Amino acid sequence: MSDILYTYHGQLYVNLTNRCPCACTFCVRSQTRSVGSAEDLWLEHEPSVEEVKQALENYCLDDFDEVVFCGYGEPICALDRLIEVADYIHEIRKISIRVNTNGLGDLIYHKRVAPLLKGHVDVVSISLNAPDAQEYYKVTRPKFGIKSFDAMLQFAKDCKEQGIETRFTVVDVIGKEAIARSKALAEQVGIPLRVREYTEE
Ligand code: SF4
Repeated sequence: MSDILYTYHGQLYVNLTNRCPCACTFCVRSQTRSVGSAEDLWLEHEPSVEEVKQALENYCLDDFDEVVFCGYGEPICALDRLIEVADYIHEIRKISIRVNTNGLGDLIYHKRVAPLLKGHVDVVSISLNAPDAQEYYKVTRPKFGIKSFDAMLQFAKDCKEQGIETRFTVVDVIGKEAIARSKALAEQVGIPLRVREYTEE
């Protein structure tokens, strides 16, 4: 049976969708279906808000530092349910809620998405993945093409402007030179960058 919720490094993760507009070369989906406590992250169907609420009954939110929307697809593909579930969790406990995203929500919905997240999520962690549009396109292979990098950067700036704690991440496999250039870009837009190990979330 597929897992809607799973735990990993003391955090509770919410897996809402398999959908994603990218095909990243390093995507966990090409490696394994199990992450943390989850045995199978590939969803047989996308869970309804009610199903997520039922799954939450098996967990005590006091046991976690943070709830993270991050699963086997791009959580912002399930934006309406994400917002509803985030509000429900905040009603139960004022716990930090983070969304791990590829930052392409504006291209998915043809509108600015950051204002829709304001007041519902506390932290947005965006996969920067590369220091420029060409490298980004090669690594993430987004269906929207080369314009995706600029859209991702704009989304990051919008999140910051909305007062949402905003971070970039890159995976260490991109190499030292690309990491250094990514750091310079992150500094330029005033958003902190975390270099994570390939296997980390
Ligand atoms: S954005 Fe995330 S889920 Fe989508 S292909 Fe890339 S790593 Fe996988």
